[in-house]
Amino acid sequence: MDLGYGPEAEAFRHALREFLELHKERAPRGGQLLAGATRSAAILDWQRLLIEHGYAARTIPKEYGGYGAAPDPLIRVLLDEEFARAGVSAGIGGQGPDMLVPTLLEHGSEEQKRRWVPPTIRGEVVWCQGYSEPNAGSDLANVQTRAVEDGTDFVINGQKIWTTTAHQADMMFGLIRTEPGAGKHGGLSYVLIPMDTPGIEVRPLATMTGHAEFNEVFFSDVRVPQANVVGKRGEGWKIANTTLTHERNMLAATGQLESSLARLVELMQAETRDGRRAIDDPALRDRLMRLQGRLVAMKYHSLRMLTCRIRREPPGPAGTPEGSAALVTKLAGCELSHQIAALAIDAMGELGTLYGGARHERAGGLWQFHYMFSLGLVIGGGTAQIQKNIISERGLGLPREAKA
Ligand SMILES: Cc1cc2nc3c(=O)[nH]c(=O)nc-3n(C[C@H](O)[C@H](O)[C@H](O)COP(=O)(O)OP(=O)(O)OC[C@H]3O[C@@H](n4cnc5c(N)ncnc54)[C@H](O)[C@@H]3O)c2cc1C
Repeated sequence: MDLGYGPEAEAFRHALREFLELHKERAPRGGQLLAGATRSAAILDWQRLLIEHGYAARTIPKEYGGYGAAPDPLIRVLLDEEFARAGVSAGIGGQGPDMLVPTLLEHGSEEQKRRWVPPTIRGEVVWCQGYSEPNAGSDLANVQTRAVEDGTDFVINGQKIWTTTAHQADMMFGLIRTEPGAGKHGGLSYVLIPMDTPGIEVRPLATMTGHAEFNEVFFSDVRVPQANVVGKRGEGWKIANTTLTHERNMLAATGQLESSLARLVELMQAETRDGRRAIDDPALRDRLMRLQGRLVAMKYHSLRMLTCRIRREPPGPAGTPEGSAALVTKLAGCELSHQIAALAIDAMGELGTLYGGARHERAGGLWQFHYMFSLGLVIGGGTAQIQKNIISERGLGLPREAKA
C-alpha cells in the first residue's frame, strides 16, 4: 500500500512549509478559528494573506473573492496536515465560510453570491444557523417559525433555539415556514436574515462549560425582503440539507484528533498518581490503546474516502453514496474527541475535577472544557442516535425505523 501523496503534492507541501516558516510571527495560534469570536485585525489580516496565497478559500471562484483553484481532495488534506503540524491557524471557518458559502455557490442567485460570499470568506460578515426550534431538532421538518407575505417582504414570527454565535452574528441563514398549505417538508424556505432587523431578540443560553456559545432567538414581526430566499420558495428543505452535509464534513477533522491524542500521551507521561505515572497504569493504558486503535481506523477510513474521491468512486459500503461514509466520520470523530478528553480527566485523578481557574488546575482547564464542549458536538449537526439510524438505513440497507 502506497500512502505517499506523489511529487506534485509534495512540492505543494514544501512551498506551504516555507510560507508558514516565513510568516509564523504573524500567524495566530490554533486550528481553524470561528469568525464571530475572533474578528480582530490580526485574524482578518492573516485570513487575507491565506486567501491571497491560495491557502484559504482556495476553491472559491475568483469573481467571488476566492483563489479560484480547481478542487483537489489531496491538497485539502495536505493543508489540514501542514497547518496542524505548524500549530498555527488555518484561517477562519465555521458556519459562514464552511456551510453557507458552499450552499450559496450551489443554490444562490448571482446577486446573492456576489453580495455575501466575498465578505464571508474574509471573515467580515459572521453568520449563524437558524434551524433548530424547541420542537424541531432531530425532527427538523417540524419547523414552526413562519413568514407571511406583505408586498415584496416576508414578515417573520416564531422562535429558534441553540443558535450558535447568534449574539455575534451579522446574518442568519434560517429555515422558515412560508407555504402554510404545503406538507411538512414542502412548506419551508431558506432565508437570509440580517440580525439587526427590528423585532429580533437574542437571549444567551449558558452551557455547562460556563460560556454562552449559543442562544434563543425570538422573531416578532421581523420584516425581510422576499429576495433574501435562497433557491425557490418552498424548496428550503433541499437547500438546508446541502448545508447539513457541509456541517458534517466540518465537524470531523482527523488531524485535530491526532494532535489531541498526542497531547493526551504527554499528559499521561507527566501526571502521577500514588507515585506512578498515569501511562504506567494498566487500566488507563488499555483505554489509551483502544482510543489509538479507533483513531488509526478513522484515519484509514478517511484515506479510503480520499482515494475514492480521487478515483471518483463511491466510498460507502456496497457502493452507497459518499454521504454515508462522511456520516461515519462525523459519528466516530465526535465520540472519539469526547472520549480522549474523558481519559485525560481520569488520568489527572482528583485534579481532573478542577475547573474555572481553580488552584492546581492543569492546562488552564482546557481538558475539562474540551470534555464538556465535545459532548455538544456529539449532539449538534445531528445526534449520534440519528447518525446511526441514517448509516444503518441508507448506508447498510437495514430495515427502516418504524414511524408512528
Ligand atoms: C453545541 C451545539 C450547537 C448547536 N448549534 C446549532 C446551531 O447553530 N443552529 C441550529 O439550528 N441548531 C444548533 N444545535 C441544535 C442541534 O442541531 C439539535 O440539538 C439536534 O439536532 C438535536 O435536536 P434536539 O435538541 O431537539 O433533540 P431531540 O430531537 O428532542 O432528541 C432528543 C434525544 O432523542 C433522540 N432521538 C430523537 N429522535 C430519534 C430517533 N428517531 N431515533 C433514535 N433517537 C432519537 C436524539 O438522538 C436525542 O438523544 C446545536 C446543538 C448543540 C448541542
